[in-house]
Amino acid sequence: MALWRSVGTGTLEGFSRVADLHASKLTVKLAKTLKPIPHHDTLTFGNTMSDHMLVADFEPRSGWSAPRIIPHGPLSIDVASSCVQYGTTVFEGMKAFIGPDGQPRLFRPDMNMARLARSAERMALPPFNTSQVLTLIKKLIEVDQRWIPAISGYSLYVRPTLLGTQMSLAVAASDHATLCVMLSPTGPYFRSAAKPISVIAVSETVRAWPGGTGGHKVALNYSPGFLPLRVAQKQGYQQILWLLGDDMKVTEAGAMNIFVVVRRDDGDFDLITPPLDGTILPGVTRDSILALGKAHTAGETTLPGLSRSTLLHTKEKTFTIPDLQRWYAEGKLVEAFGAGTAVIIASIGKIGYKGEDMVLPEHEGGLGPIAQAFRKRILDVQEGRESWNGWGVSFADL
Ligand SMILES: *Cc1c(COP(=O)(O)O)cnc(C)c1O
Repeated sequence: MALWRSVGTGTLEGFSRVADLHASKLTVKLAKTLKPIPHHDTLTFGNTMSDHMLVADFEPRSGWSAPRIIPHGPLSIDVASSCVQYGTTVFEGMKAFIGPDGQPRLFRPDMNMARLARSAERMALPPFNTSQVLTLIKKLIEVDQRWIPAISGYSLYVRPTLLGTQMSLAVAASDHATLCVMLSPTGPYFRSAAKPISVIAVSETVRAWPGGTGGHKVALNYSPGFLPLRVAQKQGYQQILWLLGDDMKVTEAGAMNIFVVVRRDDGDFDLITPPLDGTILPGVTRDSILALGKAHTAGETTLPGLSRSTLLHTKEKTFTIPDLQRWYAEGKLVEAFGAGTAVIIASIGKIGYKGEDMVLPEHEGGLGPIAQAFRKRILDVQEGRESWNGWGVSFADL
């Protein structure tokens, strides 16, 4: 029953006359003592939480509770809860920046809100009003604004999470849920930010498969990759290049979308990323790179550091390990990089497969010129130095 309630509607209509989430009902209980903010050099991704968090609960009879901002801390959750037993947990990852005007900013937050709603729907969790969630996120960030590092390349990572809190061991959808948003100051994702990462292509374990949940940001997609990641790291690689199928299709790198740059016979470049066929997470960064690449080639913008004659042909196209090996052998594989909110862009310097490494050209500063161009432009928009298509949203306009 609960499944059809949330499938395809995206509204609360399946739950008769229950309350939606309302930012106007927000209550704020501030922490008695505020934490010292660690020096930015000491920050490692996801290990420091700000002072406050946002919480709201859903119950099938009453709907969404009044949301509350409270000191960051443990929630009380029964061990028989759906999220504990069956992994009904979905999440988002976005970043808040301080603009040159001193105002906090978000990057394309509507895309994160829409994806959170799709993830919730896929897990048969109750729906919610996404614009109210965004308003609440804004209020939470304003309360903890001092946690946004005002240094380029640093930001406040925002982690909205929706938990299924139905207390039952029955294998069924959770009609109870808790929405929680936490904030974590962050710098470069990989400690050696200037250095390209190494990946090892793995086909024995798969991250996602046709008909699975790879296209959604659901917690269940990640933990099964921890053991293979540990094995990869023992072999001396930092991340896994996830393959799929007997033809060894390249899907994603770690928890990042992957791009490769292939030099063409006419001297232009193909910028290739796998298509959104349900096995690939529809990344906001991925979408932004594709759009900026197209705009550069159409002459609508010039990406920093690239000449007008460097033309990028963006392709959402399946490619395989044998394709990579062929491009590599022909000297056409000029760049490879992972893309995601946490890293923005991580250059890939080495791709291992069956005991052999494809080693990509080294560049000063770690990133190849095309990866660097995207990284710089995206950061410029995120941090408010440039505007593009309304992607950077200042709190003054939210
Ligand atoms: C979150 C995520 C990405 C990147 O998405 P962004 O919206 O760019 O942050 C890519 N792949 C996976 C598996 C992810 O979970």
